[in-house]
Amino acid sequence: MNLNAPRGTKDILPEEAERRRALERTFAEVCERYGFGEIRVPTFEHTELFVRGVGDASDIVRKEMYTFLDKGDRSLTLRPEGTAGVARAYIEQGMSSWPAPVKLWYNMNMFRYEKMQKGRYREFWQLGCEIFGSACPQADAQLIGMLVTFFDDLGLDEVNLEINSIGCPACRAAYHQALRDYYAPKLKDMCDDCHERFEKNPLRMLDCKEAYCHSLAEEAPAQLDYLCDDCKEHFDKVKSYLSMMEIPYNLNPRLVRGLDYYTRTVFEFVSSHVGTQGTICGGGRYDGLIREIGNIDVPGVGFALGVERLLLELDAQGIPFGKAARPDLYIASFPSTAANALDLAQSLIRSGLKVETDVMDRSLKAQFKAADRMEAHYVLVLGDTEVSLSRGKLRRLSDGSEQDVPLTAVGTLLHDYRKKLASAKENDRQSTLFKL
Ligand SMILES: [Zn+2]
Ligand SMILES: [Zn+2]
Repeated sequence: MNLNAPRGTKDILPEEAERRRALERTFAEVCERYGFGEIRVPTFEHTELFVRGVGDASDIVRKEMYTFLDKGDRSLTLRPEGTAGVARAYIEQGMSSWPAPVKLWYNMNMFRYEKMQKGRYREFWQLGCEIFGSACPQADAQLIGMLVTFFDDLGLDEVNLEINSIGCPACRAAYHQALRDYYAPKLKDMCDDCHERFEKNPLRMLDCKEAYCHSLAEEAPAQLDYLCDDCKEHFDKVKSYLSMMEIPYNLNPRLVRGLDYYTRTVFEFVSSHVGTQGTICGGGRYDGLIREIGNIDVPGVGFALGVERLLLELDAQGIPFGKAARPDLYIASFPSTAANALDLAQSLIRSGLKVETDVMDRSLKAQFKAADRMEAHYVLVLGDTEVSLSRGKLRRLSDGSEQDVPLTAVGTLLHDYRKKLASAKENDRQSTLFKL
């Protein structure tokens, strides 16, 4: 039997799981503050949904989907991205009759049969948001503002925002023509994929990774020069709202998204950290998506963030994020008091504290060593005397100070200490945020 996890998948062990959980918790909190509700959709959908929603000319649909027939001969696909499934749920669940806009966030695993490289997996996680029902530029700007808040909360620096507008179907026709005119004489030396893109969606040729195709993108006509009046006004407003919120951005006329349903605003957050340059998050407006799959007109805007990419970035920038909390207390005991230690730990943990105690009949010396390794804030040695007097010495490991206290007061003391640490940390955070 092959005991290796399938290529492109990985086990997530406690230390990384803790970091992921902290990341996900921070994201969920930010979403909550901006008024988003969580959505969870199935891991697989009908294949057709992705073909229509993601676009049959996209690399995802053409090369990367995990598609299979179930026992009833239905063609199903493991979701390669989040938006199509969420949009399907929006239509099926009648969310267009909910008060608009409908603001949703998700945290889901995705599946793509991709070439293996650092930080790329065939099963990977994405955090994302979608706003349905608003065509206004405020929605685009607020989503971007939300990401800025999220990166701030993580302590992530060196992330730059790039934006562009890829117009609407009305102005895109002229732009596509301009692209075809530009590429036509060069097409014979371009890759096979680009020949297909030339027919189906020349916009895609701009982000071809093949060296020669890539080199041509630089001189290609820019969508910005072909925007209709409505698209231009929309984009000007997005930019002015960002400026008002003091969110810096770079205009990147080469920025296109790899998916067919995007319209108008597209954006990426790109790392400028040496060694990890690359896209951390991509998003944009997709006013055409709901019509494409559900025949109703509902505008939308959203983004997705790669969790693995974000973790790499946090590591590279040396941000101490998502470390497991230190135990508030380690209760050391003897075989004669092991049961009392277990009982005391049980009641303290039930009160909300993190408490460790020995469950292996180890020597006192080994228990102290464990308390040190776990970086417990306090240690309490529970011997026969302590049990009979119902008092003990609470020793703080950071400075060796001791307090003789009734066992019934230990919980309150530890809760107070925890509050003190938390408020000191919060004060620090606020003072950097508001530069007090
Ligand atoms: Zn337009
Ligand atoms: Zn190409």
